[in-house]
Amino acid sequence: DQEVNEYRTSLAIRVSGFDVPRPIKTFEDSGFSVELMKAISKQGYEKPTPIQCQALPIVLSGRDIIGIAKTGSGKTAAFVLPMIVHIMDQPELQKEEGPIGVICAPTRELAHQIFVEAKKFSKSHGIRVSAVYGGMSKLDQYKELKAGCEIVVATPGRLIDMIRKKAFTMLRATYLVLDEADRMFDLGFEPQIRSIVGQIRPDRQTLLFSATMPRKVEKLAREILTDPVRVTVGEIG
Ligand code: ADP
Ligand code: MG
Repeated sequence: DQEVNEYRTSLAIRVSGFDVPRPIKTFEDSGFSVELMKAISKQGYEKPTPIQCQALPIVLSGRDIIGIAKTGSGKTAAFVLPMIVHIMDQPELQKEEGPIGVICAPTRELAHQIFVEAKKFSKSHGIRVSAVYGGMSKLDQYKELKAGCEIVVATPGRLIDMIRKKAFTMLRATYLVLDEADRMFDLGFEPQIRSIVGQIRPDRQTLLFSATMPRKVEKLAREILTDPVRVTVGEIG
């Protein structure tokens, strides 16, 4: 309706897809638990950024998403917060069976930033987050993963390495995030991404974030997302 359109325009948000949920105005509008609201205010986040206003209700409704917004726009919380809700919604955590949420990022530095952010929101929920990228010895990483976790934050190469070594299985994975997809393609990770996606059940929820949408990324998105909503913030995309 008119009011929703005006609100989107005021935030420089454009959407496409069918039945797009309306954007929220406050974190309270998301229906987050008291626990999660506490963690959010502890971060000093007073209100959602534009990408969060539109992405949170989409992802919380279970839809796939293509999110296009520039660096610094708050994309991490847009996929981490609904991931916490998704994990807490699982009937039983069955802790030994591998991650529920899988996040891929192009570089160790970016993966580490996500890891830090994910841990902040996971701690109070008893959700375990493992980092799967260079920096830790492969043996230590293997042992940590064997002990179990609900979320892995990974670079594609190391993730495949750990899957091959049977550090965990993807049997329980139902929430996949591809962050900075364009950069992962620039770095030549397309085959690894396709291999990872191929190991996760097709009825998963898939989120793809990117600063730009080159044709190759667009093609991948068409192949691996189901009826996605596309959200663009700002002039790019
Ligand atoms: P992006 O992934 O889009 O580049 P980040 O998720 O790294 O952006 O967020 C950029 C910065 O903004 C981080 O320091 C993050 O803690 C902060 N941030 C994210 N969401 C909010 C919010 N709702 N209010 C205030 N700061 C936020
Ligand atoms: Mg980011």
